[in-house]
This record gives sequence, structure tokens and C-alpha cells, in this order.
Amino acid sequence: MRSTKIKKINGNFVKGELPEGCRLCMIGAKLVLFVTGKCLRSCFYCPLSERRRGKDSVWANERLVGGVHDIIDEAERMQALGAGITGGDPAVALKRTISYIKLLKREFGEDFHIHMYTASPLNKEDLEELYASGLDEIRFHVNIDHSLFKSVELAKEVGMSTGAEIPSIPQREDEIIYIAEKLKSIEADFLNINELEVSETNYERIKDLGYDVDGYVVVGSLETALRAMRKIDFNVHLCTASYKDSVQLRNRLIRTAINVAKDYEYVSEDGLLVKGVIYARGDKIEYLKKLRELLIKKFGIEENMIYVDEEKKRIETSVDIIETLARAFKRRNLEFYIVEEYPTRDRLETERIPL
Ligand code: SF4
Repeated sequence: MRSTKIKKINGNFVKGELPEGCRLCMIGAKLVLFVTGKCLRSCFYCPLSERRRGKDSVWANERLVGGVHDIIDEAERMQALGAGITGGDPAVALKRTISYIKLLKREFGEDFHIHMYTASPLNKEDLEELYASGLDEIRFHVNIDHSLFKSVELAKEVGMSTGAEIPSIPQREDEIIYIAEKLKSIEADFLNINELEVSETNYERIKDLGYDVDGYVVVGSLETALRAMRKIDFNVHLCTASYKDSVQLRNRLIRTAINVAKDYEYVSEDGLLVKGVIYARGDKIEYLKKLRELLIKKFGIEENMIYVDEEKKRIETSVDIIETLARAFKRRNLEFYIVEEYPTRDRLETERIPL
């Protein structure tokens, strides 16, 4: 057996070559395109939230998609270099999936890397259509009872980078090894293993089956995957829960925040936008506009450093400027804050410090 070493990259474990889809995901450069919450399987560990499970809705990152412009806008906001198509099972909405692949390739070019997850068997015609539409990589959710290996073989024949994506269920390393050997024998490209995570929807089932939970991970899942990896002679990537929640999401937020930050906002280490805001009692936009003009004149503030946000009915500026204004210009009808918010479309506020 070839003894390729297991490397630790960004909190993940890799043996052999890392799939391209994972490489871009690691640097936060992949748009996560959720094309449907529907799936024909009912895995006990499925982590889909109530809001998404079984619902035929589309999400681009954390944004509910109302039309294709939302997908393009979300990809542009984060300067995505690719997309990971997921669900539910994207194959349940195959036509929609294909139309989105075409759309993304048309908008962002051939090099925009697209990978897709599926839990369904796909025939050669479907795979050829996916490939022709621009799909670069496909990952089948195989398991030993519900074999999708024939589809893996067909996808390879069609010409896509092809692998499998499975969870690591504690004490089932033999299954992981079996799957890896099978993939190797049919000349697939990789196996991606996910550390098993608990969510509000799978927690009860996981506990009922006798698994222990520590925080948001299933105890033993990581160790099982690592034990299996040591015995596997194949390209394997173990995606840890802590990595997904911290590094992957954080990198995506930082990437988006740097791209969308206004001149007066700065990007925190966690990828949040930080700025100063002024609320005026009454929240009249006309009043806020006049106040902005007054502040520009009185304090010599540059035009690009102070802005009236009509949606949130407030004045926004930099942290330095708000501190000066709060000290020098305190009036009973004005409130001054430093706020932190996500660089997402809904700009969810995470912190508000009164001055
Ligand atoms: S195949 Fe995937 S999406 Fe479907 S139930 Fe299982 S984990 Fe959930």
C-alpha cells in the first residue's frame, strides 16, 4: 500500500490530492447554491434545517433566491470563483440545476468551477447533459446498502472529476474503507468525508440511536474517519465540523466584506463590517439628509465617509468619525452607536455599542 501521509490543512485532513471543489471552498471562494430542499432519502443524520428540509426553495449562501439575479448578485458580492451545488438533492430538481450551471458559466466564464452533490443514481444521458452544461465535478452520496457506484463509473466515463461524499458514522470505519477501495477500483477521483454534525433537526434521532454528542459534533466521528484514512490508499479529504463552522464560513464572510465594504466601514477579523451610526428620533429621511450636510460642513467630513441609509433610516460613518461626533455633538434627539453586521444582503446586526 502506498503510504501517503495525512496532512492537516486549515483544520481539515487530506490524504493525496484535495478535490478542486474543496480547495476553492477552503478559501471561502465558493458560492453555496442550495437548489432544493427535496430529497428522496431520509438519512438519520441529515442536518437540513426545518426552514429548508423538504421545501422546494432556492438559497444562494444565506439568501433566499427570488430570481436568478439574486444568484448572480450573491456570487458577485463575494467575488466567487466557483459554486457548490447542494440541497436536499439537486438531482430532484435536475432541470433547474442544469439551468443554474449554464447561467453561472455564462456569467462568470469557463473557469468558474462548479461542483455538485447528489444522492440519486444518474443515467448517462443526465450526466452528459450536466457535463455539457458546464459541471466540473460531481460527488455522489454513496453508501454500502444504497450503491451509486454505477453512476460514479458513468460520470467518470463522461469526463467529469468524480468522487463520493459521505458522513463518518462512529465505529463504521470498515464501511469507509470499503467505499474508498471501491472508488479506487473504478478509478474515481476522490472521497470526501464529513465529520458528523448535530443540528436542531437531527439531534433527537442521533441521540435515540445511542450516539453521544459533544457540542455540535457526534463523539467518535472524527476518530473513526482518521482511523479509516490511515488504512486507505486513495485521495481522501476529511472535512471537520469546526473547519466548516469557523474557517470556511469566516473566509467567505471576509471575502464578501472586503468586496462590499464602503469607504467608512472596516472589516473585522471575523469578516464583519464595523461602522458608526446615528439614529435621529423621528427617523425622517429628509432630516437625516440635512443633518448629513450639516455634519459635512461643520466637521469637514469627506462626502464618501458619511452616508444616509434610507432602508435602515440612519446615518452611517466611520468609527473614528462617530466617536468625534458623539463627543462633540450630543443632542437629545440623536443616538450614536458603533455597530457590527454581517456583509450579507440582509446585513444582520451582531453588535451595537452605544456611545
Ligand atoms: S441524502 Fe443528503 S440531503 Fe438527502 S436525506 Fe441524506 S443527508 Fe439529507
